[in-house]
Formats: sequence, C-alpha cells, structure tokens
Amino acid sequence: MSSIFKPWPEPSELAKLTELATPLAGRVLVKGVKVGRPVGQGQLLAISQKPRQGSLRSPRAGVIKALNGREIILTPGPNRVGPARARDLSGLEGEELAEALLDLGLSLPEEPEPGSPLLVTALDPDPSLTLAQALWSEWPAIMSQGLAVAARLYPKRPRLLVWPSSRPAPNIVVETWPTQIHNRPFPWTWGPFLKKSLGLGYDRAARGVLDSRAIYLMGLMERRGRAPHHWPLAIQSQNYLVPAGLSPKNIFKTISLEPQPGDLVALGGLWLGRPLANLDAGLDAEVTAVHLIRARRLGPEPGPCRGCQACRAVCPLDLPIDRLGREPLSSWPSLSNATKASLALCPDCGQCALACPAHRPLRFFSSWIK
Ligand code: SF4
Ligand code: SF4
Repeated sequence: MSSIFKPWPEPSELAKLTELATPLAGRVLVKGVKVGRPVGQGQLLAISQKPRQGSLRSPRAGVIKALNGREIILTPGPNRVGPARARDLSGLEGEELAEALLDLGLSLPEEPEPGSPLLVTALDPDPSLTLAQALWSEWPAIMSQGLAVAARLYPKRPRLLVWPSSRPAPNIVVETWPTQIHNRPFPWTWGPFLKKSLGLGYDRAARGVLDSRAIYLMGLMERRGRAPHHWPLAIQSQNYLVPAGLSPKNIFKTISLEPQPGDLVALGGLWLGRPLANLDAGLDAEVTAVHLIRARRLGPEPGPCRGCQACRAVCPLDLPIDRLGREPLSSWPSLSNATKASLALCPDCGQCALACPAHRPLRFFSSWIK
C-alpha cells in the first residue's frame, strides 16, 4: 500500500450507510445550506472562525435531510448530473448571489477574515494539476466575467489576483483586481500556505481563496444562468472538459485506461488528492482532477521510523510530525493532547510523507487524530 494515500474504504461499509450525521461543533453553516439542498462530495458546508478548527465539507454526495443546530444529517445519494434550472444571476450580490451559485452546483469559499483580501489564484495548487493557465488563456472572457461575479460576492473586500511570474501578465479586464506576481513551489501554491507566504497569515481553511477553476465556473454560470454541462478536469495531468456527472470508470474508459485490482484512484490532484472508493458514482463540480495510480507504483510498505527528522525538517509549519512518525500506527489515536493540538494545525500538504525514507504513512495522519 502507498505511503502517501490511505487504503480505500471497503465499498461494503459505504453501502451500509443510509444517512450520515456530521457534527457542527461550533461551526457556522455556509450561506444557503438548507434542508432539501443536494450537495456534492467535498462541498463546503460549514465554517469556523477558529483557524485551527477548519471547515466542514460533505463526506459524500447526497441531500441534506435535517439541520438541528448541532449536526447536519445527510442522506447519501448520487451526485448531481446535468443542468439545474435556469437562474438569472445579473444584479444579484452577496448572500443572494451565493445562494444562487450554490443552487447551480458551486461550493463557495469561506469569507475572508476582516481586513484580509479576497484572493484569486492563477497558480495550480498541486503540481499534478495543469488547469489554471489553460483556463485563463483559452477563456479570457469567461474568466473576466467570473472575476466580476467574485467581486459581487464580497463587494466590500479588497481584492488580489495572484499570477505566476513565469507567464505574461493577464490579457483580461482586471482593473478591479490588483495583481501580485508570485512564484513559489508546492506547497506554497496551495491556499493555506499561499496566504501565509503573502503575509496574510496561516489559515488552515484558506478563507477567501478562489482558484481559477472556481472563477471559470462562476463566469460560465453568469453567462448562461445555469449549471455547466461540462466541467474542466485534469485527468492524469492532462486537461479535459468532462460531461457533468460522468463516473471515474467511464472517464478512464474514454482515455483507454482500466483500473485494475489494487490500483488507486485519487480525486483532486496527486499530492492533495483523496482516495476514491466508488468508481461508478458521478463526479460533482468540486472535483478538480482524477488520477489513476497503478498498484505497482504505490511504493513499498512502511518500515519503522529511523529517527532522521526529515519529516519535521520539510514541514512548512514546523509541526512535531516526527513524534507521530516514530509511534506505531495503532498508538496514534492515544497520543498526548498537546501533540494532537499542535498537529491539528496540519492541512495535509503531504511534504512529510514524501520526505520520509521509511515510507511512514504520515500523509493522512490528521484525519486519525481529529
Ligand atoms: S502534512 Fe506534514 S509537512 Fe505538511 S503541514 Fe502537515 S505535518 Fe507538516
Ligand atoms: S522522516 Fe520518517 S523515518 Fe525520519 S523521523 Fe520522520 S517518520 Fe521517522
């Protein structure tokens, strides 16, 4: 099994679940989340004002069955397929606009903290993604419209467009979006660390950060007043426009790839991806990428910790990840509260796991202890 990705959940276990109750634990629901609304896997549902706590995303696609102040109850269901009803977005602002975009299938970022700008990034968050520059260069009019929608979402916020220094400045209408040129390697291209490297503070939930794909989808929705039929998706690091709701199995079939037993499918990029158990469920608009990782490339089994501290040395937050690495997996849940509290800041960038010569499965430890 990979040293980077968790094993797939057993599909039989997933099938047993008829509904999921997700505790809110002091978080505040995102604008427009209400009973009866369909949500996609990974869609943002609730936010926290505490940077340590982070946001709450839907673990599966489904429909919100109940909200009782303490938890969100979700009835799992198929991801949304096909267009939503038409909706005229022109003239809508703030909460009304947020609600309309949610209705059309877009998950919105958490509002930036007071004094922090609304950030649009033209940097791909993960080196295995290649979407950002393609979207800006191929659909400048749509991107320009998407920027205008983002400005109407948070009208009173200062704005900033982050652009890679290796590319010519954007040839679109961005007067209201001051641009900062920025080139840093992963993980500094990723929302939480991008904010840190711009001097905006570290924020695990990356509040107020919109990526290029979200801007493209906003522009498209503004133009047509309905959910897009096709979404931009990186498949094996190539860019495609994929019909809404297509399943990973069919996606791989169209490019003549067939997942074999033991292979792993990751959604959302290779480094920031999450493993996928069900290849038949349709993808929703939140998914940026699909990668098939052959079993033979998953790497060796983890060995015992060598105490080299390479994991800690590469951590952008200098977290005591070495303390976790040297413990056997079975004792992770019983680590001291102090260690858990410091590791709770981790946004799962995966640098420690990549650096570990013993292939310790550090990548997803945060989900073990939170
Ligand atoms: S994943 Fe590892 S390197 Fe990245 S922030 Fe967490 S502990 Fe640090
Ligand atoms: S990098 Fe791996 S082997 Fe080295 S201290 Fe960290 S967990 Fe142990």
